[in-house]
Amino acid sequence: MNLCKRVLKKSTSRKSKAPTSTEPTVLTRDQHPVSRKLMSNSALKVLYRLNSGGYDAYLVGGGVRDILLGVTPKDFDIVTNATPEEIKGLFRNCRLIGRRFRLAHIVFGREIIEVATFRGHHDSTKDDSASKVSKQSDEGMLLRDNIYGSIDEDAERRDFTINALYYSAKDFTVHDFANGIADINAKQIRLIGDPETRYREDPVRMLRAIRFATKLDMEISSETKAPIKELGSLLENIPPARMFEEFLKLFMSGKAEANFNMLREYSLFKHFFPLVDQVLNQETEVYLLPFITKALQNTDERINNEQRVTPAFLFAAMLWYPLQEQIKALNETAHLTPQDAFFSAMSEIMSEQQRSIGIPKRFQGVMKDILILQDKLSRREGKRAYKAFEHPKFRAGYDFLLLRSEIEGVNSPELAELAKWWTDFQVTPPETREQMIKSVVYSRSTTKRSPRKKRKPKAKTAVNTTESE
Ligand code: ATP
Ligand code: MG
Repeated sequence: MNLCKRVLKKSTSRKSKAPTSTEPTVLTRDQHPVSRKLMSNSALKVLYRLNSGGYDAYLVGGGVRDILLGVTPKDFDIVTNATPEEIKGLFRNCRLIGRRFRLAHIVFGREIIEVATFRGHHDSTKDDSASKVSKQSDEGMLLRDNIYGSIDEDAERRDFTINALYYSAKDFTVHDFANGIADINAKQIRLIGDPETRYREDPVRMLRAIRFATKLDMEISSETKAPIKELGSLLENIPPARMFEEFLKLFMSGKAEANFNMLREYSLFKHFFPLVDQVLNQETEVYLLPFITKALQNTDERINNEQRVTPAFLFAAMLWYPLQEQIKALNETAHLTPQDAFFSAMSEIMSEQQRSIGIPKRFQGVMKDILILQDKLSRREGKRAYKAFEHPKFRAGYDFLLLRSEIEGVNSPELAELAKWWTDFQVTPPETREQMIKSVVYSRSTTKRSPRKKRKPKAKTAVNTTESE
């Protein structure tokens, strides 16, 4: 690492600023620490095959940047002058994807190497045929971007200076088009070109700036930071499905808490969870912020310990308090059973939430299960405790209950007792469970419900004691 820093510093004494020229600084192998040993064999295979097919090919973006920073790259992106069809001609394991950006995916078992063709400039005033491959919205947003160009044009089209570094497996050089190495040393996230134009072209770059700042422990440079608050509302134009992808990158990569805080600092969080943001801004709400923070910390911890996580849990945590508010509001205006109030509030909250983040159905289902289980876990009489215990999402629902109890339990002995009861229930031998159920003192709030019709007794089912999450 020391060597790496020394070498990088020596080779990059140019002053750090967003570039205007497209002349790259070329570092030879002895001037940089990017070694093939640190790359995936699949990425190297793709680079070699493209080169031997007569094309230029480079490793670009996170793969080069992270190696320079001493971080293990998450994935390897490759860029070439071969067109997607030409790439397909070279690889049997290749599929072409994307409309907005047409790309090739080369599949090696579970690893996918993404190969893009150099992007060029798009000047819609110049050529009518360009509109077929490139399209911009009235706000300046790029809707389609399939004009191919040269490596230096490609570099100018990349988002941040630290992401415009290209490694060649032909001669092992690193090409730095935008003073990216100087910015790596200065720990600066800096947009290439005019920040406002670049955010207008793609507002997601605002989210990417935050993500890289927390992931790489860097600062967003002052000119890149400046327009974010004013332009944040452009995120409203991003399709909910893309916002979901960005949500995953921000909240499911081990830096959720840091990203949450920074998104709030730049007033961007509301574009993910408008309802949560509203409740956060109410001074009377004291539990929500510690609750979300705790949920995010748990998620980060689990990810950093390589434990399983589901985004459904975070969605449930985000929406729990807005859901309670909505239930309260409904109860003030209509006489509904607790169940009806719960389900109408849930459907109102979900349809509002879906306008910001397109949560796929499978996660919606699990999220609802977790929320519904909060009620089920509070009703332990008769066979209900066993039923809740057998629920396929019991484990997630129980973890959620623990989280609630950690935050609210101090002021709610009932909730603390409930969480402890379920903790004990799981480790109690089956024969003493019945005793536990009988000894519960039911408060009026947990037992008050509309009378139920008597059902025919069912055959007794075995209690599932395995973890179901
Ligand atoms: P990581 O994979 O660690 O999240 P990355 O920099 O590799 O980081 P990717 O999303 O994999 O990010 O994108 C690969 C490269 O493509 C980036 O480094 C950047 O050069 C370019 N890129 C990605 N998204 C954009 C964008 N919205 N605007 C401009 N360039 C982009
Ligand atoms: Mg990448």
